Amino acid sequence: MIELTNVSKSYRTDTIETLALQRLNLSVPDGEFLSIMGPSGCGKSTLLNIMGLIDEPSEGSVVLAGQPVTSYNGSKVARFRNEQLGFIFQSFHLINDLSVVDNVELPLLYRKMGGKERRRLALDALERVGLSNRATHFPNQLSGGQKQRVAIARAIVGRPNIILADEPTGNLDSHMGGEIMDILTRLNTDLGTTIVMVTHDERMARMTHRLVRLSDGERVS
Ligand code: ADP
Ligand code: ADP
Repeated sequence: MIELTNVSKSYRTDTIETLALQRLNLSVPDGEFLSIMGPSGCGKSTLLNIMGLIDEPSEGSVVLAGQPVTSYNGSKVARFRNEQLGFIFQSFHLINDLSVVDNVELPLLYRKMGGKERRRLALDALERVGLSNRATHFPNQLSGGQKQRVAIARAIVGRPNIILADEPTGNLDSHMGGEIMDILTRLNTDLGTTIVMVTHDERMARMTHRLVRLSDGERVS
């Protein structure tokens, strides 16, 4: 369960203050596939960053896995992010000088785990996204849809309970986008992974359980 209560976030620069989120209330039950929509600048990335412990709210409370995030110290935040959360981005964020399987192994480097075990888990994750046959390729040898599948494998290799996806189909054509949605839907139904996905695409949003709309940092539905 992800529970945000009266969460506000303001960004201050020398001269201006931007209110990116205003008294937002949102609960995401375990196992939900939730989409978030809204115009550019309405606070979607800010919301994902707060759920992902990348950023802190200015006001309000965030409860993850039954505990207020403010009770986490720095190392607990790092461990929680590594073990419980998987991140997927519009622009993939793969490392071009590493092979596909080495990219997928990256989150496991923070764990006490031997190289063979890491490799086994990475190959399992690649199999789940249908890319076993590309393990020794490099990212620049892949299509956009394949790159995003590698990024999903990297997000799930540590078996997270929650996936946070920021426009995962935004750089893909509708066919490849559909494939990515199929993979996310299967992760949600087969493994019970909670997924929060920002999207601009109504068709993608309709494939999820629930849609929350933001406008100017406020929930409008
Ligand atoms: P979205 O993801 O919906 O496009 P964001 O969450 O990125 O929206 O941004 C919400 C608002 O907060 C925007 O007005 C944006 O300009 C502002 N903002 C986001 N990040 C920062 C930052 N680091 N510093 C200052 N303003 C920011
Ligand atoms: P965009 O969707 O505009 O391409 P990104 O997906 O690159 O944006 O990034 C979305 C947010 O996630 C940004 O606030 C960025 O700082 C953060 N971010 C990007 N890469 C990582 C990462 N590897 N780990 C944690 N946070 C990241």
